[in-house]
Amino acid sequence: MENRTCDVVVVAAGLSGLAASIAAAEEGKSVITLEKSNVTGGAANMGMSPLAIGTHYQRDANFNMTPAEAWRKHMNFIHWQGDARLIKKYYEKTASTIEWLEDMGVEFCGLITAYAVGENERAYATAYPTAHCVKPEGGGAPGPRCAGAMTKRMTERAKELGVEILFETVGDSIIMEDGKAVGVKAKDKDGEFEVRANAVIIATGGFGDNPELIKERFGYEWGKDLFSFRIPGMKGDGIRMAWEAGAGHSKMMMELMYQCPDNMTVWNFDGAFRQPVFWVNKRGERFMNEDMAPNSTFTGNAIVNQPENVAFSIMDQKIVNTYRKKGPDLLDHVHGHAIFDNWEADVEQALSSGYKYFHKADTLEELAESMGVPVDTFLESVEEYNDMCDEGWDDLFEKDRRYLYKVAKGPFYALEFYAGAYGTLGGVKVNHKLEVETDEFKVIPGLYCVGTDACAIYGDCYPFTFAGNTMAFCLNSGRMAGENAAEYIDEL
Ligand SMILES: Cc1cc2nc3c(=O)[nH]c(=O)nc-3n(C[C@H](O)[C@H](O)[C@H](O)COP(=O)(O)OP(=O)(O)OC[C@H]3O[C@@H](n4cnc5c(N)ncnc54)[C@H](O)[C@@H]3O)c2cc1C
Repeated sequence: MENRTCDVVVVAAGLSGLAASIAAAEEGKSVITLEKSNVTGGAANMGMSPLAIGTHYQRDANFNMTPAEAWRKHMNFIHWQGDARLIKKYYEKTASTIEWLEDMGVEFCGLITAYAVGENERAYATAYPTAHCVKPEGGGAPGPRCAGAMTKRMTERAKELGVEILFETVGDSIIMEDGKAVGVKAKDKDGEFEVRANAVIIATGGFGDNPELIKERFGYEWGKDLFSFRIPGMKGDGIRMAWEAGAGHSKMMMELMYQCPDNMTVWNFDGAFRQPVFWVNKRGERFMNEDMAPNSTFTGNAIVNQPENVAFSIMDQKIVNTYRKKGPDLLDHVHGHAIFDNWEADVEQALSSGYKYFHKADTLEELAESMGVPVDTFLESVEEYNDMCDEGWDDLFEKDRRYLYKVAKGPFYALEFYAGAYGTLGGVKVNHKLEVETDEFKVIPGLYCVGTDACAIYGDCYPFTFAGNTMAFCLNSGRMAGENAAEYIDEL
């Protein structure tokens, strides 16, 4: 590719990059978007629902939370460890972003709460109906990957507006002149070239596919005590590029939750064992009230505080039979309702394929041995727990008494849960306009960063009460940066 010029160059065509590209183009700017892979949409193609506050869906459902109320709750949840001005502007924009998406042809199924369970078991007691589930391409029930319909429509909209997306093109470094960002050095199959522009927007989706950096920054060893989603290509390029250009550092974290290893291949188990049954750690001891299991974030945090970062969810045949007959206690919108429907086939498949994170045994002793936990301690924990079930009161953690099922009738089953994550968050320091700042709070003119590369708005863990926050931050930060970059160029 020969050298190019445009008004705005956007590095990546994932969710936030698409939003930024469209917003800048709608302001009349010429936009070139560099995309490393051969598709748009990034991790968003795997997801389901962005958050919004104050939409027509919520008004119809008589859910009348205002953006200011959501902002206040968010700030309290994160203990004010985030840029209040950015977060306020973000929440204020979310409802209009749903309309913006609808105007370009994105359809939503409506609202979903995070979990279809009683109030006690919901994330942080009450999950608000904030997630707006994208209607899957071609209809059908919403499920994982339905947000691909949104990124597809956004891509079409970008192209209609004249955004030029250069596929299999890697943004490599930011061109700086007189302290301003004035373009990007890029590489494609033919070699290096430059895209000169008045504004640069970084949107490369974090470093979820960079185990070395994850180990360095967070201490987790991917494949050993972390089994996060690894969307190919998310190496942290944009964060590196911004830092090399003088950007400051923002707090980085994994967007932590929990899952069994390789969960997409044992999807029913991942949901079936996510029940408020009997859970122990590697010492064979209970470590939390299992009715918290639907709160993916808090349970993930609890797991990474256990030896070897692992938890075992254990059921006996009687519980399995009950769940198969009456349905499980906890259902979530991601795993769906059919998680016990093929139990025997799922067990057979896991055993015959040698899936080592699933255990089945006729006796509790054999189960403990298979799990690699001390047999004596495990048997004591079971006995203590079964006594509490008889008494109808969990003396240790006060788990909801409805879920006090004894562990008594073999065969016994266990699944190992580890920390998982959707990806990484944060890295590049931005202000409320998504302008990149140095560590000394000085704006780097012409440089913007959006999406997960810039997302440092959660304090230390994902605020599940407001489900859909990550996609929403990507969409809205992208939109705001596109608009702000256009304004910056107009004032040059
Ligand atoms: C399984 C799964 C389910 C999820 N479900 C939800 C959900 O329901 N709700 C929610 O809010 N969030 C959800 N998320 C999170 C959300 O999808 C992501 O956080 C979001 O897509 C991130 O957007 P982004 O623009 O920062 O990065 P992405 O959308 O991931 O895009 C990054 C892009 O950068 C490109 N890229 C990387 N490096 C370069 C480079 N050097 N040059 C050019 N291009 C580059 C990549 O190829 C990619 O296209 C989910 C995530 C996963 C993995």
